[in-house]
Amino acid sequence: MENIRIGSQRADWKVSLHGGHSSTYCDHATSTLQEMLEAARDAGMRTYGVTEHAPRVEPERLYDEELALGWDVDTLDRLFGEYAAEVDRMKREYAGIMTVLKGFEAEVVPEGRYAGVMLGFRERYGFDYIVGSVHYVAGHIIDYIPGRYEKAVAACGSPEALAVRYFHDVARMVEALHPEVVGHLDLYRRRFASDEAASTPPIRRAAMEALEVIRQHDAVIDVNTAGLRLGFGYPYPAPWLVEAACGMGIAFCFGDDSHNISQVGAGITEAREYLLSHGVTHIETLEPGVAGVNRRKIAL
Ligand SMILES: [Zn+2]
Ligand SMILES: [Zn+2]
Repeated sequence: MENIRIGSQRADWKVSLHGGHSSTYCDHATSTLQEMLEAARDAGMRTYGVTEHAPRVEPERLYDEELALGWDVDTLDRLFGEYAAEVDRMKREYAGIMTVLKGFEAEVVPEGRYAGVMLGFRERYGFDYIVGSVHYVAGHIIDYIPGRYEKAVAACGSPEALAVRYFHDVARMVEALHPEVVGHLDLYRRRFASDEAASTPPIRRAAMEALEVIRQHDAVIDVNTAGLRLGFGYPYPAPWLVEAACGMGIAFCFGDDSHNISQVGAGITEAREYLLSHGVTHIETLEPGVAGVNRRKIAL
């Protein structure tokens, strides 16, 4: 599913508000930011929100690959400042061609004080918006690093307890950061064997509480095509979450979560069909306004 091409025709709904991770600033991305934006332009994207990962500020959070590169927390901090400046240049370069938005993907670490750190980055570099994501549960990363997910399960007691805690942490994150976009809402299910196991009654109750907080804060849910690339058959979030959020009047956007040019815009056509098939007729995008970004509704 790595190379689902989007075609080059422009369309209003060709918007990604979560992606554009690039090799200059992210150890697990493989194309430069310039290449990513050229690919977005060539795919006919109307708006491309670039959302590099926030730098981790604790040495113990560095990935092995980063340590192998000789990076430390100061390296991550410096690269993030350079990233913010380069996106500013790109916004000017693409003016009139494609709306480039300057965002970042916020983390829920350092535990207990991430809000101050993440909102500090937002302020310091003048970001247009934040994608709020939960990649850590009980202090362990659950995303893609071998062995760490198992530690998170052990800390929570069971996969189901991990999922419940995950949604609880999503709700607290939305309250703490007020992100414009909530990233990959059900990231926890990456390691679940079946949809049934990933949506038991306790998990659904926790999810509904998170959705209620998302609704209260008027955040937009990222329909994230990384789920297609992982072979789920649909993007993040799962159909039951799309239907529940839709019923609550919560808005959706697309995110390609791209880390290389083949992933830019990939799966968005399928994500559009996915939303339409679950009764969602509009997405919402962000556009630059006088005082920060404004929301705009787009018909699918
Ligand atoms: Zn990444
Ligand atoms: Zn993420």
